[in-house]
Amino acid sequence: MKGGGVWHAEQAWLGHRAVDVLIEVDNGLIKSITEGVPAPPGATILKGWTIPGMANVHSHAFQRVLRGRVESGGGDFWDWRKEMYRATEWTAERYLDHCASVFTEMLAAGVTAVGEFHYLHARGNELGASVIAAAKRTGIRVTLLDTCYLHGGVDGRPLEGAQRSFSDGDARRWSARVEELEDGAGVRIAAAIHSVRAVDPASMRVVAAWARNRGAPLHVHLAEQPAEVEQCLVTHGCTPAALLEREGILGDDVTAVHAIHLDERDIALLGRRRVAVCACTTSERDLGDQVGPLGALAAAGSPLTVGSDSNAVIDMLEEARGLELDQRRATGRRVHHQPEALLQAATASGMRSLGWDAGELKAGRLADFVTLHAPGRDLDPGYLVFGLSGRDVINVVVGGKTVVSR
Ligand SMILES: [Zn+2]
Repeated sequence: MKGGGVWHAEQAWLGHRAVDVLIEVDNGLIKSITEGVPAPPGATILKGWTIPGMANVHSHAFQRVLRGRVESGGGDFWDWRKEMYRATEWTAERYLDHCASVFTEMLAAGVTAVGEFHYLHARGNELGASVIAAAKRTGIRVTLLDTCYLHGGVDGRPLEGAQRSFSDGDARRWSARVEELEDGAGVRIAAAIHSVRAVDPASMRVVAAWARNRGAPLHVHLAEQPAEVEQCLVTHGCTPAALLEREGILGDDVTAVHAIHLDERDIALLGRRRVAVCACTTSERDLGDQVGPLGALAAAGSPLTVGSDSNAVIDMLEEARGLELDQRRATGRRVHHQPEALLQAATASGMRSLGWDAGELKAGRLADFVTLHAPGRDLDPGYLVFGLSGRDVINVVVGGKTVVSR
């Protein structure tokens, strides 16, 4: 991911609309951005709207196999989960091919970095290595959020069935295994606490300490379903967010995924600690999850990000507008977030959550940028977020290398 070259964008989003933008890239980084200049000889011309590369903050690549297969019958989130457990057995080779096809689909939709929330540990690090190899093969950046998963409920009950293969046994063995994985070009090793359901307080402290020692991002599923909150109140006498606070987990290096069933104190707490929140609206709709208090979280100080989660849909612009549109239906009011903020969720805030210095077209940042076919009008974040989709992406550059061109 250390490519170089010169690109000339007809229109680009630099935090404001800019025209005739020269992007010079050296050694994978943006060297300079110059507005209002003609294309020099030899520059690669980008017709359309060029924006920073998008970040898919939360993915479980294996769940892509469920697409279209779980839409009949009936049930709730927990019934869906039983179906999902049937898709957790892979060989290293098959998983590499599968992840490569999922990551190719992400790149085609303008995703230049993915956070893979990975808990398929039946073969130790074999499937994690497959995720890394698939990222290298396809050219996407990956933050491997290696996930600690130890228990079958908030009360510490043992794992059952397929869940058993997700576990390292205890948090020390989790960290010893993760230590064997290495950062590399386009690869960051990071940590995840699966949830307060699957990780007890002492173990979550071990995971957080590991992440903080390494300066690595730390992610956690938080309050996706009411049952998690109810069980946490019974076992610990507090909400999941309050439990994470009590154990010293919350901070600006943490991303809480879903964060749906929160009370006012939880919202204030997450905001005060500058915990990022990842909304996965297409998956949450698919699973019958309710709508989280995203407007209140943003107002409290939490940066918002987006992710494709189960990969029922892979389209960060759909996620970004879903973040807003779901709240409109839930509240009966319009425009909780400005379009520029939704675009920031899909780019700069998401990149920060994954530990990449990208998501903005600025000198010194990683040279990730995406061009969308646009309908002959001036670049407008409202039209971009609400009128375009991943299918409008025509060119993708990651670290100064063109990985999609059509
Ligand atoms: Zn998830």
